[in-house]
Amino acid sequence: MNFLRRRLSDSSFIANLPNGYMTDLQRPEPQQPPPAAVSATPAQHAPPAAAAPSPAPERRQSSQSASAGSSFFSSISNAVKQTAAAASAGLVEQTSVATGQAKKFKQLLVIDEQHVDWSKCFRGKKVHGEFDIRVEQAEFSEINLVAHADGTYAVDMQVFRNNVKVVRSFRPDFVLIRQHSYSMAENEDFRNLIIGMQYAGIPSVNSLESIYNFCDKPWVFAQLVFTYKILGPEKFPLIEQTFYPDHREMLTMPTFPVVVKIGHAHAGMGKVKIENHYDFQDIVSVVALTQTYATTEPFIDSKYDIRIQKIGSNYKAYMRTSISGNWKTNTGSAMLEQIAMSDRYKLWVDTCSEMFGGLDICAVKAVHGKDGKDYIIEVMDCTMPVLGEHQVEDRQLIADLVVSRMNQTLSKTPVPSPLRPPATQQPQSGALKDVEPNKMPSQRPPPQGGPVQPQEMQSQSQEGLQPQSMLSSQPPAQEPLPRQSMSKPQKPPKPPAPTTRQPRSQGRAMSSAGTLPQPAEPPKPQPHPQLNKSQSLTNAFSFGESSFFRSSVNEEEGKAETIRNLRKSFASLFSD
Ligand code: ATP
Repeated sequence: MNFLRRRLSDSSFIANLPNGYMTDLQRPEPQQPPPAAVSATPAQHAPPAAAAPSPAPERRQSSQSASAGSSFFSSISNAVKQTAAAASAGLVEQTSVATGQAKKFKQLLVIDEQHVDWSKCFRGKKVHGEFDIRVEQAEFSEINLVAHADGTYAVDMQVFRNNVKVVRSFRPDFVLIRQHSYSMAENEDFRNLIIGMQYAGIPSVNSLESIYNFCDKPWVFAQLVFTYKILGPEKFPLIEQTFYPDHREMLTMPTFPVVVKIGHAHAGMGKVKIENHYDFQDIVSVVALTQTYATTEPFIDSKYDIRIQKIGSNYKAYMRTSISGNWKTNTGSAMLEQIAMSDRYKLWVDTCSEMFGGLDICAVKAVHGKDGKDYIIEVMDCTMPVLGEHQVEDRQLIADLVVSRMNQTLSKTPVPSPLRPPATQQPQSGALKDVEPNKMPSQRPPPQGGPVQPQEMQSQSQEGLQPQSMLSSQPPAQEPLPRQSMSKPQKPPKPPAPTTRQPRSQGRAMSSAGTLPQPAEPPKPQPHPQLNKSQSLTNAFSFGESSFFRSSVNEEEGKAETIRNLRKSFASLFSD
């Protein structure tokens, strides 16, 4: 008791507590007799009574602050009650799929803008002839993920569908990436997500390695230079390009007109046509501000652009002619025509499709000059836009390609299903009572932002525990997804054995949820008051991660009861 008093009078200890914690701890509950079981602190830890300062100042302080502001405990218990209430009201989709049931579908995450509905393209398609394909579609800005070295991972998604905010946490089996993961334009750097997917070992089209390699245009151009050296200028007419790591080397005057391409950006951004050395000096000064690399290449007085695309084994060639007169035919209006595939074009795109370990989807871009020559300027990856009247067909080709890759990389063995990821209408504040489906999101989803997380649960995740939503969507960690071709048969899912070491998240989830038979353990010591508050509360509440969404109202009431008892216990510390 004295030790606890001393700890609570320690200003640094108190300063580290979240808002409202002290207030709640010290607020006596009127009309309630002190409970008998108060001994949270072992007697041997108690320092001499003389050393313990009086708790009176805190008590005075607490009596002032207790009346104002929100209460930590009541907010937790409110959150629990509200979750239960919202669940019964249907605001949180409760899952009916129990852990251990076979998952009879494969989850596909498509990264693309909303105006393209990829679920249509995969309708009726199956993996291994038996698994349905469930499509989740989002833009990079709408997702986040967490990946563990043990192979578990979860993607969090927060999107708006028909003006309703939908929050999901799920474990994609495969990813199709149709959006640029990186541009030097503001807020367009999602390489961290590519890294996370690679870390998680999620198979994808194109490969994540190649997508990461495509995050610097000169890096890709370097591959074209290799090809040029092998095939020669006749077969592979690569444009002459010069690379500058930064502005300081941009001293030698190129032959004008020249095109300066600054950094890594798309859709014509950062590409400037320079007519003379005065303008060149100007643009060098701009490159200096950007603090990135730049390339220069001769400006080709062009008749049209050529694009040779390859989706799996399907080839198409297009010419694009500017109508608006912009030297960048992808800026302003342009006319697109399909042209015949020649062996020459096929050689270009076939050779390029071998870079970075292979590109399932790619396109070679060239400029056809008024001099009658072709100049290869760029290769695009799986983010290439589909064009013209064949858009629908091309998307279908991409879908077929993805299914074929899923067949190659995914297990035939049904994986024990985790709890189905809940679809929630997430309140902005995290409290279900605030649910307003029409509100726009104020920011990206939090890094581990599952639906409805009271503050304490977030601090659990910082300690290595998963938020409820993630755990509820994760299959047992003993079966990480294979990354490459599945010629080897998959191990059937093992039942978790209490004696083996559980992967971090699962082990903790199971122990706290109490869903697994546990070997006889010595009685757990009471949480020490010096423990981080969230740890001790975690123990006190016995919140099972996966139980959060499937627990019944009775369970929630049980937890609320635990909270009330805890509150009483703490309150009694100051009532003697
Ligand atoms: P992305 O495909 O990533 O969107 P981008 O459009 O930003 O690339 P480029 O394809 O290099 O960049 O250039 C845009 C357009 O500018 C081309 O489609 C082409 O019409 C024109 N262009 C590019 N380089 C040259 C050049 N050296 N000479 C003449 N025109 C060029």
